[in-house]
Amino acid sequence: MKEIKHLINGQFVGSASGKMFDDINPATGQLIAKVHEGGKPEVDAAVAAARTALKGPWGTMPVDERMALLRQVAEGINTRAEEFAQAESADNGMPISLARAAAVPRGSANFIQFAEHFKYVATETWEMDGALNYSLRRPLGVIGIISPWNFPLLLSTWKIAPALASGNTVVMKPSEETPMTAMLTAEVINEILPPGVFNVVQGLGSDSAGAALSEHPDVDGITFTGETTTGKTIMRAAADGLKKLSFELGGKNPNIVFADADLEDALTMTLRSSFANQGEVCLCGSRIYVQRPIFDQFVTGLVAKVKANVKVGDPSDPASTMGSLVSKEHFQRVMSFVESAREDGATFECGGKIPDNLPDHLAEGVFLEPTVVTGLTPDCKAQRQEIFGPMVSIVPFDTEEEVLELANDTRYGLGATVWTTNLGTAHRMSAALEAGIIWVNTWFLRDLRTPFGGMKNSGIGREGGVHSLEFYSELKNVCIKL
Ligand code: NAD
Repeated sequence: MKEIKHLINGQFVGSASGKMFDDINPATGQLIAKVHEGGKPEVDAAVAAARTALKGPWGTMPVDERMALLRQVAEGINTRAEEFAQAESADNGMPISLARAAAVPRGSANFIQFAEHFKYVATETWEMDGALNYSLRRPLGVIGIISPWNFPLLLSTWKIAPALASGNTVVMKPSEETPMTAMLTAEVINEILPPGVFNVVQGLGSDSAGAALSEHPDVDGITFTGETTTGKTIMRAAADGLKKLSFELGGKNPNIVFADADLEDALTMTLRSSFANQGEVCLCGSRIYVQRPIFDQFVTGLVAKVKANVKVGDPSDPASTMGSLVSKEHFQRVMSFVESAREDGATFECGGKIPDNLPDHLAEGVFLEPTVVTGLTPDCKAQRQEIFGPMVSIVPFDTEEEVLELANDTRYGLGATVWTTNLGTAHRMSAALEAGIIWVNTWFLRDLRTPFGGMKNSGIGREGGVHSLEFYSELKNVCIKL
């Protein structure tokens, strides 16, 4: 049986407690690895190693050299791309096609992006009468990364790469649901960077490794992606040390289709923004608002596309376009939203049940048909809370004012999508929607130089491009009397 260990100070080690937990393939229910369960002792050792490594060769390395090493990390991931893709798919339930096409390439692209971009960012200079001010950028220090299970490699490297490119050292706590690609990343990085620069402690969240990292007095910043409630707990734990925080949290994103939109484009992309990675994407547009003249046509069109294009099946089969949910617990949570929608009188246009044609080897898996409902009112549980599964609701609207009111009536503010061919509508909606990222006539089109993050309960701060540099470094001003 494969064993997944921690990487601490350049060594793969087990836990002092000897405790382990199971890593289960959610599509088959099979045990795929035993994972060493880290706790405070492992976090303490990893943070101490990271602190020491800041003072070692990494801390004084010329920028070009550091960036060259990060490009080698990208190459290291690319060289083992298929191994990464298989691991991600087995751990998470994501279709292997998605792991190959998006998760792994984006994992390595993150290293290239930040290795390149940060070399060309200037600092400011201000001339005064008789004095000169200039700014110096310095690494923040030891960065704690706490990452989720939904795109484990893509989302962790989105933080590892800029943290390292800025000259920091890192202690990462990956999700207990998906420890595999964190271990592979550790293997790749450990061959390239000095010991202690990048450390991974496997383990659980509350009262465990995650909590120990959040409250550790020698960690300078915490960057976290996950649920809003977890973010609040981490913020409280980090308050004592006044740590710098960056949070990418949950969403309940509106997808708004005006009657003048290109219907075919809107339908094709809505299929993706509803069911990509089984709807386990923070940016999925789970609240679909469609202007009344095209409402019926849109509902019929989306259901037709689901039936024609979505193949739920074994994630390891390249023909599957939807895999399994991440775990039994998460499946039960998603099903509770299906049930609540039923109780609230929703019409199930399609889905709402376990697929009945799954092969025997997937009998223990956690699969749900792509589910489209209509008839939910704004106060229904399934319309208000993040489902994080393959279930969307479609609601009609009449005017721009009305849909704005509906779209913004949420504690979340991560993403929003607008479909229209009217330039005025596009600009007015983009300005008024309360979300950190607005897509017009597209979805999930990402330029890694742009600010990424959420408003309201969807996050704190922005990462991406120079915004990542802002988080992962300290600026100091030097004032010289001439
Ligand atoms: P989660 O909050 O349950 O777990 C995320 C990480 O936090 C895991 O590593 C977990 O072990 C750790 N953790 C849990 N409790 C902790 C505690 N008390 N102290 C420290 N660490 C703790 O989230 P999840 O279920 O893994 O991921 C799904 C959530 O992530 C969804 O809400 C989704 O919207 C959000 N998400 C947001 C973005 C974004 O960019 N905004 C991207 C992906 C996912």
